[in-house]
Amino acid sequence: MEDHRYHRRMRCPDCGFESSHVVDSRPSEEGSAIRRRRECETCSFRFTTYERTDHIRRVRKRNGQVERFDANKLKAGLRAALAERPVTDVMISDVVRAIETRVLSGTGQIESAEIGAMVMDQLRDVDTVGYLRFASVYEDFEGVEDFEQALADLGDTVEIAD
Ligand SMILES: [Zn+2]
Repeated sequence: MEDHRYHRRMRCPDCGFESSHVVDSRPSEEGSAIRRRRECETCSFRFTTYERTDHIRRVRKRNGQVERFDANKLKAGLRAALAERPVTDVMISDVVRAIETRVLSGTGQIESAEIGAMVMDQLRDVDTVGYLRFASVYEDFEGVEDFEQALADLGDTVEIAD
């Protein structure tokens, strides 16, 4: 049995009363969430809440280390790569959000190189020089091969002038 005392403090979305109680609680989304039906203790309004774990994704780095995907870290890397480029913080945030959405829509570990490739995809359209700089700055793209490949991929289509 669930001890409902610990679940009471959920504000009623209808009348705003600070307390409601759980009338039903069951697993949902194949066990990854708990769905609760709640009832306001004042107006009896019923509503549903879901309890889920924060979605996280672990990243396997080239050196074999595994760490949690961190959008802030990615953003910091992008800021460094795009320093003094004509790229606004809003553009950087958009790129990070797009990548975060792609990363978190999957499950299991993801290779850091895969995230790097996503960044490259996004940056290519935003800023060519920043794209190349990121290729050299991003810790998992330090390999000369990756950088050369990035240059080769660009070589056909873009003339680089900075
Ligand atoms: Zn209420």
